[in-house]
Amino acid sequence: TTFDMLGLAQPFLDAVEKQGFEAPTKIQDIAIPHLMNGFDLMGVAQTGGGKTAAFVLPILNRLLEENEKTVSGKPRCVILAPTRELAQQIGVAVRSFTKGQKIFHTVIFGGSPYKQQLQQLQRGVHIVVATPGRLMDHMERGSIKFDSVHTFVLDEADRMLDMGFIHDVKKVAAEMPDEKQTVMFSATMSKQVRALAGGLLNKPKQVEV
Ligand code: AMP
Repeated sequence: TTFDMLGLAQPFLDAVEKQGFEAPTKIQDIAIPHLMNGFDLMGVAQTGGGKTAAFVLPILNRLLEENEKTVSGKPRCVILAPTRELAQQIGVAVRSFTKGQKIFHTVIFGGSPYKQQLQQLQRGVHIVVATPGRLMDHMERGSIKFDSVHTFVLDEADRMLDMGFIHDVKKVAAEMPDEKQTVMFSATMSKQVRALAGGLLNKPKQVEV
């Protein structure tokens, strides 16, 4: 498989090429078509196999097609990560594919000032990449609303559970429309991950690499 067989729009093919990606990794090869077809997905994959691009590219492709302006405090896509480092990495990946396009994102995590995060949310972004605790804080302050979310990603779900974020994750997810695409990635498939997937995913495709 080559990237141009996956149905991605030209700007993403250009970005992928510019980054020196020659061919999709296995997880990308399998996950991208499922996600482009609108399915929920449970991906069991370690970091390093290209899982970030596997969920980011279909999201960006959809946002490009929709070509909607941002609405203050109302993202279309929420990506949750257990740590600030991972959230920042995902943010870097999003940026690498959206340069020169009108697709906007912000990265939100604890331990950094609210003010700037608030400004970004108010200005409006299509994508929010966040750690669960700080996202919850913004939700409770009313600075973010989840009723326009059409894509929800939970990355490293096993670590999310280990770090005790399950409650925040569920609270945030409960504010989103039922009608949305949900994607979960986890390095391992424990009983708890399975239970969380059972609650969040609707007839998911399962991909294990
Ligand atoms: P991830 O597993 O998402 O953390 O990605 C690990 C690394 O692989 C990142 O540095 C990506 O830039 C890189 N990467 C992702 N997809 C590809 C690809 N198709 N070909 C080469 N490198 C890739």
